Amino acid sequence: MGFCTRCGRQLPEEAYFCPYCGVRTIKGVEAGVSIPVDEWKEAFHKAGQEMEKAFQIAAKEMEAAFKTTRANIRESANRRTVVCPQCGEKNLKDVSFCHNCGKKLHQ
Ligand SMILES: [Zn+2]
Ligand SMILES: [Zn+2]
Repeated sequence: MGFCTRCGRQLPEEAYFCPYCGVRTIKGVEAGVSIPVDEWKEAFHKAGQEMEKAFQIAAKEMEAAFKTTRANIRESANRRTVVCPQCGEKNLKDVSFCHNCGKKLHQ
């Protein structure tokens, strides 16, 4: 994993050129890759933008999924709560006895 010598951004593992600014990476120099024509620079620049966009979308989706999961967990936790008629302690719905006072819970 390297960083671009011109723009300083993190480079993909196998990058011969920076996808952000189009400069040739050290790896590219070592591999003897010729300096690209302008349309290649443009293509790499676009690829960088697409990657960034895709990453932002993925990050948002992950965040949304995480929120949904948390909401579901909270919801199912509430649904699974049964209040002990003797001591008022909250127990999980699938238990047979109150974990606080030992009273048998009728489900
Ligand atoms: Zn760069
Ligand atoms: Zn109890």
